[in-house]
Amino acid sequence: MTTRTHILGFPRMGAHRELKTALERHWRGEIDAAALEATGALLRERHWRAQRDAGLDFVTVGDFAFYDHVANHIQLLGCEPPRFGFTGDTPELARYFSMARGVADAASHDHEGCAHGTHAGFALEMTKWFDTNYHYLVPEFTDATRFGLASVRLFEEVAQAQALGHSVKAVLLGPLSFLWLGKEKQQGFDRLALLDALLPVYEQVLARLKAMGVEWVQVDEPVLGLDLPEAWRHAFERSYWQLARGAPKLLLATYFSPLAENLRLACQLPVAGLHVDAVRAPEELTGVADWLPAHKLLSVGIIDGRNVWRADPDAALARLAPVAAKHGGEFWIAPSCSLLHLPFSLEGETGLDPELRGWMAFAIEKLAELRLLRAALDGEQASVASELEAARRAVAARRASPRVHRADVALRLARRVDGDDRRGAGFAQRQALQRARFALPPLPTTTIGSFPQTAAIRAARAAFRRGALDAAGYREAMQAEIALAVRKQEALGIDVLVHGEAERNDMVEYFGEQLDGFAFTANGWVQSYGSRCVKPPVIYGDVARPAPMTVEWTAYAQSLTRLPMKGMLTGPVTMLQWSFVRDDQPRSLTTEQIAWAIRDEVVDLEQAGIGIIQIDEPAIREGLPLRRAGWKSYLDGATRAFRISAGGVADRTQIHTHMCYSEFNDILPEIAAMDADVITIETSRSDMELLRGFGDFSYPNEIGPGVYDIHSPRVPDTDEMVRLMRKAAAVVPAGRLWINPDCGLKTRGWPETEAALTHMVAAARILRAELALE
Ligand code: GLN
Ligand code: ZN
Repeated sequence: MTTRTHILGFPRMGAHRELKTALERHWRGEIDAAALEATGALLRERHWRAQRDAGLDFVTVGDFAFYDHVANHIQLLGCEPPRFGFTGDTPELARYFSMARGVADAASHDHEGCAHGTHAGFALEMTKWFDTNYHYLVPEFTDATRFGLASVRLFEEVAQAQALGHSVKAVLLGPLSFLWLGKEKQQGFDRLALLDALLPVYEQVLARLKAMGVEWVQVDEPVLGLDLPEAWRHAFERSYWQLARGAPKLLLATYFSPLAENLRLACQLPVAGLHVDAVRAPEELTGVADWLPAHKLLSVGIIDGRNVWRADPDAALARLAPVAAKHGGEFWIAPSCSLLHLPFSLEGETGLDPELRGWMAFAIEKLAELRLLRAALDGEQASVASELEAARRAVAARRASPRVHRADVALRLARRVDGDDRRGAGFAQRQALQRARFALPPLPTTTIGSFPQTAAIRAARAAFRRGALDAAGYREAMQAEIALAVRKQEALGIDVLVHGEAERNDMVEYFGEQLDGFAFTANGWVQSYGSRCVKPPVIYGDVARPAPMTVEWTAYAQSLTRLPMKGMLTGPVTMLQWSFVRDDQPRSLTTEQIAWAIRDEVVDLEQAGIGIIQIDEPAIREGLPLRRAGWKSYLDGATRAFRISAGGVADRTQIHTHMCYSEFNDILPEIAAMDADVITIETSRSDMELLRGFGDFSYPNEIGPGVYDIHSPRVPDTDEMVRLMRKAAAVVPAGRLWINPDCGLKTRGWPETEAALTHMVAAARILRAELALE
């Protein structure tokens, strides 16, 4: 029997982010819906051709979306929330973008780490797709939710692919995952109750695909990799009995985490095939081959769909061959998950070091890897001998490279001693020393780090990169921006200043560019949400800091003022979380290497006279493993890494951290275990509700709960901030509170920033007077 190849999904944006361009032009009113649709059709056509040219047995249809595939399903299944008040004459695509973007323009909604913040207006909530950096639009459910087959987009796309002569495998998000990923908008309502109403619509969709001659439908149920409540697990069997009745052959696709207790369930569902993620859960392959009946198809996700590394063909074959033999039935190979989370292609990455480039494979290159593996698996090595040899050489070179493995870094980690990850004294003693040193007023005011990234700043940075501005000119321009920020903060009456981050493009990239072990692509864009893409760095080798990264800028800023200047760094977990990482060592080890590099910087800042240093960790929550069983070891590693980065300074030096846009309540003990002297968090959007957990938990150190949302130009008034801080003081003793915005201000303009901060300082004064009266 020959092995077949397929993919679970392909990146949508296009080789040159054509979709982004078209979307944004459409939103600005420069091109109409028809022109946008034409771009979509063209991109699908190209991406299917790439799949066929790579020799895949099917092209995958239904993975394309103008914004998000979950939003496509909301329309397909006819459950647009009634609160939008759509009338029959609003076109489907217009309704789609209203749900995605709300009534206001989403342009202000452009902030790293804050991608799931609020849109003004009524957009659907956005949240992270499992443990990726992709954000989906959250379906809304109440007991009034009705379903009905309401969009023909999927069928049109299938017809488009068929007309192009492709053999089509359609893809749907499965009913249980669709419900699971949605949110109840009604107290006490359980969305699982909607299943019976939902299934008939899936039946209709499947019947229609069958009528179109589609042989295989991939039904994604990634929730099988989560810790599911019993009722949800039980719902699988009856759902798939119902769906399988009149459907084409169903390939149940799971990915991102081990199936664990759901493994037998997944193998026994009445479907024609099962796809498993052999990258995230290689240890389960044997169990799957045991449990999956031979009459069912087994699809093994052997190529890493989440990372940029070239596959090791021998390791893959060694893993695949016994499983194929054991299973005995029809056998497919695929990437572990959709390629949505990868950049398009290495082509054009001419700036990348050729050696590093040779170690990598993006979406297009992964298609070729499938072909190679298939040939080797089917005993046709001879036909791919030279490619196989090239892959082997690249993998071997990477494994042995001194650029990856550095003795000095290994030695440093090996030399660590007990207590490396602890400050000298406990918090109470440190607090006393720091209070005496800085003599700050009660409820000190500060900001989160960045100030407006004006057009002038961007232009100077771009000119410097182009070579149009020399180093001296660039330094002068940035110093002028820093001086401006310092003057403004002094005039505003802020207590702890920041230099404003004018010189930083991005909070991870800025540091990654200066650290050994990081590489950057020119065009390695990955969709984050809608038209927004990010270009994650690639951590390829042992991380070390060859030279100070921020000391000169920060010391310059401090030289301009007698007020304390807060140094500003990105923490190890966030650096890791927003990068493509090494797959040849545990994530925790890479995190620890970064932590030591950051520690060097913290110590150098202290030596340069910087008394307050903030280490941002906005991504700590999102690194949590999908399964609870993995939480503890992740959190132990993450908090330890933070403490290593902060652990090299004297007790009189004050360490801050910052987190935002995540649920903290279930990880409060770990946040406390980071032992930062001060934590600033985003709390204004929840009206300080997020702070309640810190109060209930009796969080021991100081806290700055954000008093205003930084996503919109709206300037909140003083009263609003006073009200929020009174709420805060009801749960956390005022003596431990700071006053600050929710997050960095880089996406804002100066006028609204100055206005808001004026109100913030006024609020602090009012509150201090109130305190003095107590
Ligand atoms: N210091 C960063 C800034 O102010 C923090 C950004 C973040 O939390 N995402 O921009
Ligand atoms: Zn933030």
